[in-house]
Amino acid sequence: MLFSHLPRVRLLEEATPLLPLEHLGRQLGRQDLWIKRDDLMPLGGGGNKVRSLEFWLGQALQQGADTIIAAGLPASNLCRLTAAACARLGLPCILVHNAGQPAPLQGNSLLNELMGARTLYCGAVDEEARGAYVQALAGSLRAEGRRPYVVGDPAIGALGYVAAALEFAAQAERLSQPVQHLFISASAGPTEAGLLFGLSLLGTSFHLHMVSVEYEEAVFWQLCRPILVQLGHLLGVQPAVDPMQIATFYGDFLGPGYALPTPSCLQAVRRLAAAEGIFLETTYNAKVLDGMLTLLQREALPPGEGVCLWDTGGFPALFGQGAQFASPQP
Ligand SMILES: *Cc1c(COP(=O)(O)O)cnc(C)c1O
Repeated sequence: MLFSHLPRVRLLEEATPLLPLEHLGRQLGRQDLWIKRDDLMPLGGGGNKVRSLEFWLGQALQQGADTIIAAGLPASNLCRLTAAACARLGLPCILVHNAGQPAPLQGNSLLNELMGARTLYCGAVDEEARGAYVQALAGSLRAEGRRPYVVGDPAIGALGYVAAALEFAAQAERLSQPVQHLFISASAGPTEAGLLFGLSLLGTSFHLHMVSVEYEEAVFWQLCRPILVQLGHLLGVQPAVDPMQIATFYGDFLGPGYALPTPSCLQAVRRLAAAEGIFLETTYNAKVLDGMLTLLQREALPPGEGVCLWDTGGFPALFGQGAQFASPQP
């Protein structure tokens, strides 16, 4: 009902698994650790962008688009999942990478080629120059009579995570124990804003711990707040509580910067793999788990309140991150 007036294509037929982290929990002396597996989706290797693409491509089809464009680095999960959704929907997809062509293709860029996406490399320029390249590309396609749609609008993308928040709450209700604390990466904002908005529609039962993988706190809120406002307009509802009331931001697990690993995030990847057979990449989820483990070790999350890692996916990127693990273990 909340979304019935908004165009949406279904790419995810079922809820992603919410599973206990039993072995890791035993190691830490807790029985209330969970993981929300947004890395496990039937489409394209899965990941958070699938939820956003349901609304981006819904809007694209409503506008009569006949070509979909996504931009990012060759390792971008947005690009991979856009190519996957376009493959399934039979839409031509163009990917723009601000890099030279990697050789050999690996990780996401290999998958993009397998899915038949057309890939353009605009050289190692910044995001602004890449954006200008994309606009020029869209302009020239329009001049040829095509109808391009560029994915990425933050508020439209955030709708997918408002829906995800409700999906999670319904799953959490069926568990034998409560889950109160959710951990997620803090990056460009759509995922976080969507979750914050969706969870705060439900009151104060859940707390969202956002671990920065990219920006300092002030910059993050500059990105996130306008999305929250736009979600209110798009959905025509306002949350029962101020989303800020259920949010905590952590800047201290970022290390040297975006996509630059810290020793403790690499340890966190090893720990989850060794305890549970679950793989995290180092750009996003490794730092989130590092933050979650640190707070658990500090006993900052009372037993019985339930703690969940929200795995946003991106596992194929791990195959390009091997060199980060090359130094011997302490
Ligand atoms: C894009 C991405 C994020 C960040 O999502 P935002 O909504 O841009 O903050 C987190 N995890 C993975 C795996 C991603 O691909």
